[in-house]
Amino acid sequence: MSAPGGQGGAGGSRPALEVAQAVRAGEVSARDVLEQALEQIAGRDGELRCFNAVTATAARAAAEAVDGRVARGEDPGPLAGVPVALKDNLCTRTAPTTCSSRILEGWVPPYDATVVTRLAAAGAVVVGKTNMDEFAMGSSTEHSAFGPTRNPWDLTRVPGGSSGGSAAAVAAGLVPVALGSDTGGSIRQPAALCGVVGVKPTYGVVSRFGLVAFASSLDQVGPLAATVEDAAAVLEVVGGHDELDSTSLPLPAPRLREVLAEGVGGMRVGVLSDMLADASPGCAAAVRAAAEALTAAGARVEEVSVPELLHGLSAYYVVAPAEASSNLARYDGVRYGLRVEGEDVETMNARTRAAGFGPEVKRRIMLGTYALSAGYYEAYYGRAQKVRAVVAEAFARAYLGAEVLLAPTSPSVAFPLGEKTADPLEMYLADLYTIPSNLAGHPAMSVPFALGEGGLPVGVQVLAPALGEREMFRVGAVLEAAADPKARAPLAAGARA
Ligand code: GLN
Repeated sequence: MSAPGGQGGAGGSRPALEVAQAVRAGEVSARDVLEQALEQIAGRDGELRCFNAVTATAARAAAEAVDGRVARGEDPGPLAGVPVALKDNLCTRTAPTTCSSRILEGWVPPYDATVVTRLAAAGAVVVGKTNMDEFAMGSSTEHSAFGPTRNPWDLTRVPGGSSGGSAAAVAAGLVPVALGSDTGGSIRQPAALCGVVGVKPTYGVVSRFGLVAFASSLDQVGPLAATVEDAAAVLEVVGGHDELDSTSLPLPAPRLREVLAEGVGGMRVGVLSDMLADASPGCAAAVRAAAEALTAAGARVEEVSVPELLHGLSAYYVVAPAEASSNLARYDGVRYGLRVEGEDVETMNARTRAAGFGPEVKRRIMLGTYALSAGYYEAYYGRAQKVRAVVAEAFARAYLGAEVLLAPTSPSVAFPLGEKTADPLEMYLADLYTIPSNLAGHPAMSVPFALGEGGLPVGVQVLAPALGEREMFRVGAVLEAAADPKARAPLAAGARA
């Protein structure tokens, strides 16, 4: 399998920071960069289906505004002219926000998410909204009401999910960077399966204002990018306190690019041995090779066993559906999108929800409602909260002996379309190694590192304690430099030449 991606020059095939530098210097116009990206999308998206909507008109206006700033000698921002794609659960005034659900089809939010406002202020140009599992519930993008996205490395395979459209768009070189959301792994797992970098920041580092809520105590917005540096640049732009989100931390965005060259000399790294046991041979081998690369770079690497982390999955599948059942109560046929009429309000509500939600979303609502119902609350929700605390304590112990932890991002490489759709538990297990960080509110990132089974990319996951983004990115940069260049999309395709 060879890395997907364009043949150079076009918007998505160059790192975002190179594009921004060229636009800022007036060497290329934001408008030209945009037209190249739109051309790439027009050429490839018919088969890949990364996009629910392409917002060409608004994008042209945004690109021209950037060019105007350059022409007037004003600062056009650190991401000047960089085409970006947004997961379709981020609110945008310029395009519908559907969460890949029939129930929100055609709904245009009256405001932009804070991350969207910040990207625009930094000169980035939003080109469209990307496909996802409905309401971000899934690990393959097959639960989209609009059909699945395909993995650019192999069109018969899934891109992962739920931010599969964003991951595939970056992997195919349609855009250099995209935003996703990660509740249990939805940025990192598709990044791993598509050979791109994906970052879930510390809970509260990025504003959730304008992110359609799935499980509010777990959701976090973050970047997908072809390079670690681009991911850092985007996180620096979208991160930092936002008074519109009460869970936003009262801190500025982490400074990340300045630490990327610091290396890992003397850093203590723990390899999560329990997560190597069940991973595919290719995924486990990639983590071992990554550990060796960090040792060679001067880190002190040790295997650590933290078996409690693997209980995170069961707790997550109580907590996340419970929160989802509450968050999704607002789709009632009155306030948003779809309405199916009925003789009274209750019938209208029921018919709208029956027609508007797909089977996985209905399953989660029922699981969550059951877990929260009188008489079962302590047995399920209360118990899950205790397991969540156990996971956080286990992490705290592990971080007494290590600055960062290493694990596979996903137990396997990209799987064939249809392989797991009939078995929800199999699908849920795709996030076994990513979920613990969400439960604890910690940051974690996936860095493409090696080729595994079938010549498909394998991501190595770097986990850090709350606000450990700087250490995490230092490790990410070293891993990127040591990685098999064939495992990265799309730059390894010779696009730089
Ligand atoms: N796959 C997990 C789920 O279905 C995680 C999804 C996510 O992170 N949004 O809930």
